[in-house]
Amino acid sequence: MPFISGKGLTAGLRFLLAFWAARLTALACRLFGYPGTSLPGVVALRLYPGVVGFLASSYERVLAVTGTNGKTTTANLLAHFLRRAGLRVAHNAEGANMLPGVAAALIRDCDRLGRPRSRVAVLEVDEGSVGRVFPAAKPGIVVVTNYFRDQLDRYWELERTTGLLRSTLDGLPGAALILNADDPLVAAVGRGRAEVRYYGVNREEESCDAGDCAAKTAGGTNGSGSVVAGETREGRYCTSCGTELVYRYFHYGQLGDYSCPGCGFQRPDPDLAASCVEEGEHLDFTVQVLQRGSERASIRQESGTGAPSGSGNLPAGATLHFTAPLRGFYNVYNILAAAAAASALGVSLDAVRKSLLDYKPATGRMEEFTLGGRPCTLALIKNPAGVNQVLKTILATGTAKSLVLAINDLAADGRDVSWLWDADFAGLADGQVKKIVCSGLRAADMAVCLKYAGVPPERLLLVPGRAESLRALAEQEGEELFVLATYTNLFDYAGLLRRMGKGGGRSAPQDLPSLS
Ligand SMILES: [Zn+2]
Repeated sequence: MPFISGKGLTAGLRFLLAFWAARLTALACRLFGYPGTSLPGVVALRLYPGVVGFLASSYERVLAVTGTNGKTTTANLLAHFLRRAGLRVAHNAEGANMLPGVAAALIRDCDRLGRPRSRVAVLEVDEGSVGRVFPAAKPGIVVVTNYFRDQLDRYWELERTTGLLRSTLDGLPGAALILNADDPLVAAVGRGRAEVRYYGVNREEESCDAGDCAAKTAGGTNGSGSVVAGETREGRYCTSCGTELVYRYFHYGQLGDYSCPGCGFQRPDPDLAASCVEEGEHLDFTVQVLQRGSERASIRQESGTGAPSGSGNLPAGATLHFTAPLRGFYNVYNILAAAAAASALGVSLDAVRKSLLDYKPATGRMEEFTLGGRPCTLALIKNPAGVNQVLKTILATGTAKSLVLAINDLAADGRDVSWLWDADFAGLADGQVKKIVCSGLRAADMAVCLKYAGVPPERLLLVPGRAESLRALAEQEGEELFVLATYTNLFDYAGLLRRMGKGGGRSAPQDLPSLS
């Protein structure tokens, strides 16, 4: 077994022991109906802590995606683009994005002798786990989406999360970075790095003028008395010199065009820039490749990945029109990030554009179902910035709608639900929203929060159980239905919606398991 013997006999034997134990664990998980996305990795790491490094070193390219929001969609898009280009890809698609999940995904990619079947690995990495995953997996390309305040009990303050990324990347000086130019917290990571490519969205008609935003922020509250969370902006100060950043415009959160009067740090010109974004049932936008020559847009392309060669480096000055079967302005960023990473591996932008058309969203990322004969969309919510973007997207249609808001406070959701008060739910007071079913372990907290956001109490229903909340939703008015759920609710709602959709929603509720 040259694959094993090349890495030392002791390591090889320990790996095989861990590998087979993980395989048996995965089999047991399947037999007992558990997804088994992380547990086999836990077992493997217990028996051989170096298992991720052992396997990752066998891939020709390892790509990692990290950040607060959008990393699942970005990593899934990237894996999709690469597969469409004919590459076999190992990928932790289920969002199991800590070290055990990564270990489990790499083990799943192996054949019976423990040899990786793919040549490329796309790893979604939890922003709190980069310090464990990156030194082991040694990604050659690191994609960073954005940094927002998220689950303070798990991720601490943003300074610690971004500091962790920077110090971890110091140990990977050769890694090429693909960074969000519009987020100063992300763009700052590229300072002093040799290989960086930036992506961003140019000024849009809807972009908030910096002056207007400042005026709104000064008030601090909106008409109904709740905090204008849409104006909560992280990274207001330059990470280098501490001076307050000056903005020309904002897209949302702290994403926009900024500069530092103190040290000259400013939004880098994106190598890949979107403009003319049109939102609706799907996204339409134009992508431009910066005409900069090749001095920076030159992430090394290595042969041997099997991707189409010669077409990868972005053709400077090119403009392409993209249509994506995704909703939400924020997904433009995810598409740009994945496109930039795919092109670094030799996939042409035109191939990316074409393969985008048949992309299927991951579980709960604006995933579409049918409930009570109407379209029902499932969306993950987990932090204020994400909630605000999802609400903006679903309210943009203006059609009559009802929704479930399912809030849990288990470890994976974040124990502290005070984040609800930082999100901007005031839009739900609009007349287009007919009924809101509050569900989950913290249904009552959600209802109180909505009342203070200005939603009339008669439009609120309190139904803590998942199946019951969907039955209640199916009875409500609206052309469109939505389920917005925190992480530990997400997969159960997806399963229930799949079953109810088949049964037409109202006709088969008695078949549903009582889950809550
Ligand atoms: Zn500065």
